[in-house]
Amino acid sequence: MKSNLKAALAARIFTAAVIGLAICSPAPAQATNNSGKDGAFGPANRHIDAVASATKISRNVASAQHTSDFQNEYADRAKSLGGSDVKGWLSLADFCESHLMLDKREEALKKVLSIDPENKDARRRLDQVKYGTEWLPVARAEEKEAADNAAKGNVFYGKWMPAKSAKPLRDADRKKHGWDVEVRVDGKFCAVYSAAGYETAHAVASVIDNVGEAYAAMYGKVRKLGPVKPITVFLFDKSDSFASYFKQLAKFSGEVPAGFSGNFVTAINTLFLSTDIGVSGWNTESLLRTAAHETTHALDELMAGIQLASNPIWLIEGRAVYTEYSLVGRQPVFGGINVGGTDGRGAAVEKCYKTVALAELLSMDRKTFMEKNVPENYAASWSLVHFLMHGDDGKHRDAFLKFFQGCPKNSSAKDFETIVGKISDLEPAYRTYVGKIFLPAAKESVNADRKAKGLSGEWK
Ligand SMILES: [Zn+2]
Repeated sequence: MKSNLKAALAARIFTAAVIGLAICSPAPAQATNNSGKDGAFGPANRHIDAVASATKISRNVASAQHTSDFQNEYADRAKSLGGSDVKGWLSLADFCESHLMLDKREEALKKVLSIDPENKDARRRLDQVKYGTEWLPVARAEEKEAADNAAKGNVFYGKWMPAKSAKPLRDADRKKHGWDVEVRVDGKFCAVYSAAGYETAHAVASVIDNVGEAYAAMYGKVRKLGPVKPITVFLFDKSDSFASYFKQLAKFSGEVPAGFSGNFVTAINTLFLSTDIGVSGWNTESLLRTAAHETTHALDELMAGIQLASNPIWLIEGRAVYTEYSLVGRQPVFGGINVGGTDGRGAAVEKCYKTVALAELLSMDRKTFMEKNVPENYAASWSLVHFLMHGDDGKHRDAFLKFFQGCPKNSSAKDFETIVGKISDLEPAYRTYVGKIFLPAAKESVNADRKAKGLSGEWK
């Protein structure tokens, strides 16, 4: 465990210091090694299993937070909506999501489907797609599609096609990129070139697309967003080739340490990921979370025109981790606290929240952030963002987004106090929130994940 953490730390420090970008990934603190036989993860550990186990979100805690006020509001709104108002139910689902009532969110989405079974919005938010005439969970649909195409002798290269049509495309890509491209998956926000198989590449592409959509919906309200030229994603299956091609393609001259898991390089608009980072505990779920995290950084740069280095580091990393751990299935469900297979930061929250000084965090520079108490800094930034979005019944959210809107111009701790509120007033509320809501939710999520994987021991 220690060495994992160390490796993950090394990765963060390395990436931040050397590339000058905010790059990081969750600490793979759980001792299950899924690398190995039969493709990247082995037949028993296909991404669908990993992702399915990630869909458990802290429902009990989420609803426990909510005083009867929100439950009552839900009940009132539900009652007045009646049985045919699709838009109304979708907006009620949004209300539930922002107040962390995830059971009710599902209830509202299912209500939409009872009115309109073909409603794409609701299906999408439930992580379902249509295959043939059937609506299926994304991973299941892909599995069927792959089997049906394989039976016809088709291969996937950006889309399904006969093997002989894919060959020239693959050859051209190999020539262009100088490394072994196995498949290409095209998304709206990305083109994933993968040496790690179709399934994983597809999962990565759908995470990036979903984060892209969610990013636009969430931040488009406060910042002018530009169109995004698809991000190039290189997905490797071996830590060695990952490191060596990263050095070559990102023109990086140092040593790439084991545990280095993800990096968006602005200059070449390329995101580097690997199914294997050379430390145990790394699995597909961690990979997808890293993809979500790095995509947030990438879109900050590409979509919102935010130079990462010129903004407060807690804001940049806190929001990226917020996206990362809100990933449910392949979708970000904001407000979720799912630290499933990678509880390193959850554990760090436990350590940090009693001692973190928000004033210090809010004015911390990038170098200090990345060099000292790194997991705690990430955990504190993440939990602070979560508090600002959802704590005190969501009353800080608008001010927080307004603060984000003004960055990097008005981004000091003093500006924060002017726009959001006095730190000394917020700090006790933040601590209460983390102790009562956030941390129990993190524990619940980790323990549910352990149980699902048949691991003994609980995080208490
Ligand atoms: Zn980061």
